[in-house]
Amino acid sequence: MKLLVLGEVPQAVTFAQQWAAATGGDYVTVSGDGATPWDLVATMQALGCTSLAGAATSFGRDILAYTAGLLDLPMLSDVLAVESHDGRLTLTRPLYAGNVLARVRTRDDRAVYSVRTAAFGPPASDSAPTVALVKGDAPTLPTVLSLDAPAQTRPELTQARVVVSGGRPTRDAATFEALIGGLADKLGGAAGATRAAVDAEIAPNELQVGQTGKVVAPELYIAAGISGSIQHLAGMKDSKVIVAINTDPDAPIFEVADYGLVADLHQAIPELIAKL
Ligand SMILES: Cc1cc2nc3c(=O)[nH]c(=O)nc-3n(C[C@H](O)[C@H](O)[C@H](O)COP(=O)(O)OP(=O)(O)OC[C@H]3O[C@@H](n4cnc5c(N)ncnc54)[C@H](O)[C@@H]3O)c2cc1C
Repeated sequence: MKLLVLGEVPQAVTFAQQWAAATGGDYVTVSGDGATPWDLVATMQALGCTSLAGAATSFGRDILAYTAGLLDLPMLSDVLAVESHDGRLTLTRPLYAGNVLARVRTRDDRAVYSVRTAAFGPPASDSAPTVALVKGDAPTLPTVLSLDAPAQTRPELTQARVVVSGGRPTRDAATFEALIGGLADKLGGAAGATRAAVDAEIAPNELQVGQTGKVVAPELYIAAGISGSIQHLAGMKDSKVIVAINTDPDAPIFEVADYGLVADLHQAIPELIAKL
């Protein structure tokens, strides 16, 4: 059993180490830069790899699922835990927006895995060496001519120790940036948003937290003006400490919050920023 790990994401390496302990196999990592599904197939074949893993990012989800299709291997997405159970490799992954955790295994322990980075810490030991990508025979693919990525001044949402998220009541992009971004900056954290805020063009798409956004598990998650829909909770309920600021004392977000403040965010957040 040999696992190829796509990219050098530390949490994917942690998964690989636990996978190796559970299977008695080993793993190698390969840089994801410029990799196509055909390159991954060629690399796996050249190295005798039986399975493939990578982080469940937008890039990872896309390329891993495509490669699983080319290899005719089962795809296990959003893996949260790996163990050996009854001598067989057993994976835990979420169903129904995280309301059910399924423990699954494949027929012969071979699969392609996307790994939730929020569920795995840093690697326990030094990672295996990175091997060179073997170029595969690819059909003509669309070519990226240029990439217009927004400048990042804050930590990446999924890696941040503190996330301050805002919902629809943040009203507009300027207020969102001043209040949610301002508090995030004071705490050295990242800004996040609900889908309602993203749909209303209050916050950019890449800040969406939830079932159809990013999944985060920071040490501190501050939810301001967020109702606590199950789709939003799916992306943040594993945060270590959750603080909710909401005008409605019966808002569902308070059911998962460790600390709750019944207040108007437009008053409470400027006061918090001034005191920090
Ligand atoms: C298939 C599907 C996928 C989805 N995926 C996602 C997802 O990934 N992420 C996501 O977030 N949503 C997702 N949604 C949308 C989700 O169902 C909710 O509609 C959304 O999360 C609500 O966002 P909100 O809490 O900002 O807004 P609202 O529902 O409008 O809630 C606003 C909250 O703020 C409170 N409030 C009002 N004014 C103030 C104030 N001045 N100060 C403080 N509090 C105030 C209110 O009491 C309320 O609780 C999805 C929905 C579907 C159907």
